[in-house]
Amino acid sequence: MPELPEVETTRRMLEPVLVGRVVRDVIHTDPERYRNTTAMLGKQIRAIERRGKYLILRLDDGLDCIVHLKMTGGFRTTELPFLEPPRFERLRLVLHDGEVSYVDSRRFGFWEVLPRNEWAHLGTLAKMGPEPLEDEFALEPFQAAMAKVSKVKPALLSQKPVAGVGNIYADESLWHAQIHPEASKLSAAQSKRLHTAIREVMTRAVAVGGSTLSDNSYQQPNGEPGYFKLQHAVYDRAGQPCPRCGSTIEKYFLAQRGTHFCPRCQPKP
Ligand SMILES: [Zn+2]
Repeated sequence: MPELPEVETTRRMLEPVLVGRVVRDVIHTDPERYRNTTAMLGKQIRAIERRGKYLILRLDDGLDCIVHLKMTGGFRTTELPFLEPPRFERLRLVLHDGEVSYVDSRRFGFWEVLPRNEWAHLGTLAKMGPEPLEDEFALEPFQAAMAKVSKVKPALLSQKPVAGVGNIYADESLWHAQIHPEASKLSAAQSKRLHTAIREVMTRAVAVGGSTLSDNSYQQPNGEPGYFKLQHAVYDRAGQPCPRCGSTIEKYFLAQRGTHFCPRCQPKP
């Protein structure tokens, strides 16, 4: 699933293609999944922002278009003009000077156009914690939240202590901070290490376009992969040596999510 680095990469690549453009048409066949998109017609896209794993197109007349890529959603911009639709195209955004294709093989992603900031019904978005790459991700409130967790990894995935951390970046950050995924009630020193690790991992992942995994479902909108997989310490590396100590990386399921860790660097508490 695209996490903060993949969604931020997507945002940065869409910005020069979308901002300032007027929406001429939105072509799709699934009004349940891509809701109220006719409201975009004739509107100018003023900005494209990101909150956690959500993209937010800011439109004229106080409207937002929320896009969540979920498991396999993504954008394609390079094949312009499209001689034939990209594989798994679900929606086509027709602008006054071009087109952008939205693809989604598994169809879990969604779009919704609604009045600005009226997100209360989108629970994860409404209750999301601070952005990890902004100053608002302050150490002390994070330490206070981490001092109460019963299992640290599921707490991170809830998006409440910090926005945008999903399965890949939770595993990577916990390895860097040398904390077991099931650690509870983190000490101030542990949560300080984790705070630093999340910022560093996210910064480095954004710099190389995020992570394209072996299923290839995520690509940068220009068709390139994200290169952060080459820097993964534990994620998708079960059975391989830990880059820090050489022990064998293990994988197990925690709260239904594949979880990777080093048994020596991240001992079970
Ligand atoms: Zn290790």
